[in-house]
Parts: sequence; C-alpha cells; structure tokens
Amino acid sequence: MRVVVVGSGGREAGLAHVLGRTAEVVVTPGNPGIPGSTATPPEELDADLFVIGPEQPLVDGLADRLREQGNLVFGPGADGAQLEGSKAYLKELVTAAGVPTARYAAFDEVEPALAFLRSLPPPWVVKTDGLAGGKGVLVTYDPAEAEADLRAKLAGATFGGAGSTVVIEEGMVGPEVSVFAICDGTRAIALAPAQDFKRVGDGDTGPNTGGIGAYSPLPWLPDGFTQDVIDRFVQPTLDELRRRGIDYRGVLYTGLMVTDDGPKLVEFNVRFGDPDSQVVLLRLTSDLAELLAGAARGALGDPPTHRDDAAVLVVVAAEGYPRSVRTGDPIEGLAAARAVEGVTVFCAGVAAREDGALLTAGGRVLDVVGQGPDLATARARAYTALGHLRWPGAFHRSDIASEVSS
Ligand code: AMP
Repeated sequence: MRVVVVGSGGREAGLAHVLGRTAEVVVTPGNPGIPGSTATPPEELDADLFVIGPEQPLVDGLADRLREQGNLVFGPGADGAQLEGSKAYLKELVTAAGVPTARYAAFDEVEPALAFLRSLPPPWVVKTDGLAGGKGVLVTYDPAEAEADLRAKLAGATFGGAGSTVVIEEGMVGPEVSVFAICDGTRAIALAPAQDFKRVGDGDTGPNTGGIGAYSPLPWLPDGFTQDVIDRFVQPTLDELRRRGIDYRGVLYTGLMVTDDGPKLVEFNVRFGDPDSQVVLLRLTSDLAELLAGAARGALGDPPTHRDDAAVLVVVAAEGYPRSVRTGDPIEGLAAARAVEGVTVFCAGVAAREDGALLTAGGRVLDVVGQGPDLATARARAYTALGHLRWPGAFHRSDIASEVSS
C-alpha cells in the first residue's frame, strides 16, 4: 500500500514511521528529518490512502477535496472537523449526545461572560472558541488573571478572530487521559490510552504548550476503561454526528479528565495527539495502514493489538517555547541518541542546512521516545538518549512519567 501523510511535525514523523512498517510512505510537506518528505502538495500525489495529520487542513476541508478527487482518506471532512474548529460547537454537540463533560457557556461580550465566570467555583477555565494550537486555554485559581484573560481574548488582543468568542467552563480536577478512537463513520475502536504533559515546566508549572511529553500505558487506569470511553463518549458522539448527516471517518481524540465523579470529556480533537499518539503508535503490533484504510473505507477491521511494553516520550524544545523561539541552531548528538537501546527520535521542528546538517526550526524540535518492558526502563532510556542531544538553549522537562515509574 502507498500512503501519503499530510503534515510536518512530530506526529507526522511518528505516523510515517509506524505506517512505514507495512506501507510505502510519502509525507507532505514533511521536514528534512522525516524520510520520504516531499514538497509536492497532497492534491498532486497518488496514493492508496491519505492520512491527514494536523487539524488546520481538516478544518479547511482538505479531506473533502481529496475525496472529491476519488481518494481514500483517513480524516474527517470540514463538517466533522468543526468539533475541534469550534469549542462552542463541540460543547453543544456533546451535550446533545449526553456525553459527561464540564458545564459551560459561550460568550462574545464581556459583561455576561464575567457574570457567568463569577458564578463558578475555581479553577476557572477560559478558552478561545477557534483553533489556537493548544495554547488558547487558561486554567487558573486567580480570579484577576481569569478576568484579564477573558477581556484580552474577547478584545481580539491575544488570539485575533479565534478568540472573538470564548467558552467558559467549570474547572475539572484530576489526571488526564488521551484515548484515540479510530472511527469508520458508524463504529469506533480504541488504541491503548496515553497521558500527555501540557505545561512547559517541571511539576506542571508555566504556560500550556501543544504537549511536551507523554507515556503509555497507564497502569493506574481501571480495567475496562477504554471500552467505557467508547461506549459512553465516542459512540454517542458518532451517533449524534450521523443524526446531523456527518459521516466521521478519522480519529476522535478523546481527551478526558478522571475526576472524583468519574471520567469527563475535556475535548475531542479530530486528529492524532502530538506527542501522545507517538507513544501509542510505537507500541502497536497490528498493521496501522490496514486499520486506517479500513476506517477510511467505512468498514473497520479487527481491533488493534499492542506490545506489552511501555513508551515514554520527552520533547526537546527550543529556547523560548511556547512563546517566540530561537531557531537556526545545529542539532548535535542525534546519531548517539538514536544508538541508545530502545530509543526512537522523531524530528518535529527541524530544517536542513545546505550541507544537510539539521537545524532547529520550531518550538518542539525533537521527540525522544524510550521503550522498554516497563515505564521505569522506558523512561531511563529516553533520558539517557537526551543526554546526547545539544544546541544552545535546548531544554526539556525532567519529570515526564516520573510519578508513575518510581
Ligand atoms: P483543550 O484545548 O480544551 O484541550 O484544553 C487544554 C488543556 O486545558 C486540557 O488538556 C486541560 O489540561 C485544560 N483544561 C481544559 N478544560 C478544562 C476544564 N474544564 N477543567 C480543567 N482543566 C481544563
């Protein structure tokens, strides 16, 4: 099978790597650290299957355009992608579907928004309605910060049009879980759960990022957790989408918080998580290309199988991330990092110098993944590999998966 992966970051590097076990893979536009990258746009490529990585092209209707050309596509059309394109739409749809989630309201004016905010207990949650690269959400215990953030978002100061409507939610407290549900329009099956780390600093401090670390499996989850997620979160959502005439073929990334009242939905994303999907996909033993092609055809095949091992991923970021970042530095130690037993390194934000050397070119530069028989071994391998990687201002969290592996 020939597969085209659309996108250019760590998620697409991971997808290409795992799809490449059984398929011939081309990545567009990819990056100089992803084998098989090409500058040719997806509409001009031939493939048996197209897999669209990021949310923006899905929201912009790339899956629809590729399907109109007669292609098999894994990824929802623009209609289904609104689940991620608008948080107000997401909350309205999942509430109609009866999915457990935080109480919310959407506003485009300051005063009613403030009144609702003040009626809620902390923590306070203020979200931009539109896409903001995972950075449009404030969660705070400081009422003055919540108010200032709300005013700035509504004034268009922080996120422009994406913030002209805000969603205010009841704050939830508890560990977060990501479940990737592969959907064929009617049915869904889940991959192994993962957890990702969103805050930039150790001990979950500092601003939210697009994701700075991840691990899988989650030994602390109860038996039957993923099936419960399919039954109570994903299937009702797919059914509600169908009622609205939306044939959803792609991944429903179910972001959950395990609260004292049980799991609740934080969000659905319409694509694989970055970097949490990398740890899950590396653990797959079944054929990913067949799985995604079956979903794209509207006929899911057998449930996926995973290795009985563990994977821990640590992002190496450029100085400044998640704010404006320093780029253009040569990356040292990649070969030595890759030589560590059980380690895979994905290039997320890199460019190539004329002589072929890799340079930093984004906030999240590399994903370093350790795999091993248990989380402690996987984690030790990832951090050993990290010791080899160097460029000015490079940084990473030192506590990814530390609590679960000690
Ligand atoms: P989202 O973009 O909606 O996934 O939100 C990004 C992150 O903000 C989530 O992964 C959570 O860590 C946090 N978050 C979002 N909504 C809530 C909520 N209602 N209560 C507590 N934390 C939240």
